[in-house]
Amino acid sequence: MTFDYDLFVIGGGSGGVRAARTAAATGAKVGLAEEYRMGGTCVIRGCVPKKLMVFASSFSEMFEDARSYGWDLTDGPFHWPHFSEKLNSELDRLEGIYRKLLDGSNVAIFDGRASLKDPHTVALSTGEEITAKHILVATGGRPVVPETPGAELGITSNEIFQLKEMPKSILIIGGGYIASEFAGILNGLGVKVTQFYRGAQILRGFDDEARGLVAEGMRAKGIDLHLGTNIVEMRAATEADLSGDHSHGVPMEGGVPAQLPSKAAGHGIWVKATNGTEKVYDQVMFATGRAPNTSGIGLEEAGVEIGRRGEIVVDDYSQTRVPSIYAIGDVTNRVQLTPVAIREGMAFVETVFKGNPTPVDHHLIPSAVFTQPELGTVGMTEEEAREIEPVEIYCTSFKPMNHAFAGRDDRVLMKLVVSKETRKVLGCHIVADHAGEMIQLAGIAVKMGATKEDFDRTVAVHPTMAEELVTMKEPMRTA
Ligand code: NDP
Repeated sequence: MTFDYDLFVIGGGSGGVRAARTAAATGAKVGLAEEYRMGGTCVIRGCVPKKLMVFASSFSEMFEDARSYGWDLTDGPFHWPHFSEKLNSELDRLEGIYRKLLDGSNVAIFDGRASLKDPHTVALSTGEEITAKHILVATGGRPVVPETPGAELGITSNEIFQLKEMPKSILIIGGGYIASEFAGILNGLGVKVTQFYRGAQILRGFDDEARGLVAEGMRAKGIDLHLGTNIVEMRAATEADLSGDHSHGVPMEGGVPAQLPSKAAGHGIWVKATNGTEKVYDQVMFATGRAPNTSGIGLEEAGVEIGRRGEIVVDDYSQTRVPSIYAIGDVTNRVQLTPVAIREGMAFVETVFKGNPTPVDHHLIPSAVFTQPELGTVGMTEEEAREIEPVEIYCTSFKPMNHAFAGRDDRVLMKLVVSKETRKVLGCHIVADHAGEMIQLAGIAVKMGATKEDFDRTVAVHPTMAEELVTMKEPMRTA
């Protein structure tokens, strides 16, 4: 049987684009469909614009610190429209690069929604039908919003980049990556940020000590973080809510309603919380997790197995139950990270187009949470490791010299979880400025199976924060 294409990729995000290009480089005839903008979540409404916002938000502290270092600076307000316009043109530029890369690799681009008709046929929203020997589903994920009454008034991370104006105040629901990162970003940009997390500590799954320090740092920077708290209901604020009428629960500060929405934003949202408070915020953002994009694209009809969380079930080689259909990235809900989706795409090409079966290695993936303070992590947390084997914990928390000089109280954390028996560093956790950069490098050593003694044999780079990773002599505790 002949097919129109050797490979048809559904979804033009980081994983799909990389798989399409590397498959085409083997001489395969490749097509790719994207219904929205090329680049997917990471480039268009995720990592890239988020990181640019992290940079933008960090200037507020830099201005303060600069004065401590002797600079004569006066800081003014942040101009969102200026930043937003520049951000959008940067995203246009990046999308253009993605298209050019695909074009340059001879990948045929289809701007439309694709769905599966059968194991070898894709139907496009343009009416075209295309056959392919292999189909790769890389449709990513989308934010999910709980069924809270009035939740439709809120926004998600999809909308935050497209706001016409910055809110004066915002309530962020959730305690994961996105909620905690945006709490820091918006706080740095001058927004009054309240964060509700339903559990006992934000960033569930990360090392307890590290998440504790991040939460402490966030609070110290002005984020009003409420743990064990969730939203009960929300609705558009009424005149009575805004007038500061106590019968409607708007808390007063000096006779003025504490969290009046800005007139510029044009509306406010009244929120009732599980802790009994009722307040009005300019904006409410849900960062309550993401779900795989598996509905309405003919997956089940084509015989693809969908798991309990709506994810495409795949084997170690990203193959679904239907031999001609593969899936990579967030739609498989393995590890929701861009570089992992890219790895999965490359392993798929290696397996299917280069005849070299390559399982995806999901072990010891370093990652960073761009909270303020930033968190970098690789390997096991103390809590995970001590369940498995006896461990030594090397840990130090201190005021780094740049902050100490500026008069800041911010502390950093450097922590190693070490196997008592093998001496291997099982986990490394860093809370500090640029922790993401540091953990990328520490991640190499941990992935190579470095022992504590290997770390110790490495000469310190002085004066840095990271030198503590190779100078901690005595375990703080054993567990
Ligand atoms: P996460 O799964 O990280 O966090 C979701 C949060 O929402 C959790 O705190 C969860 O609480 C809470 N939550 C879920 N349902 C409800 C509910 N009904 N009511 C109240 N709270 C609720 O998802 P994110 O959306 O933050 O991020 C999605 C993924 O994207 C991440 O897992 C990560 O892999 C990736 N990402 C990575 C980044 C990075 O590498 N820096 C940045 C941003 C995203 P609970 O803990 O109790 O379940």
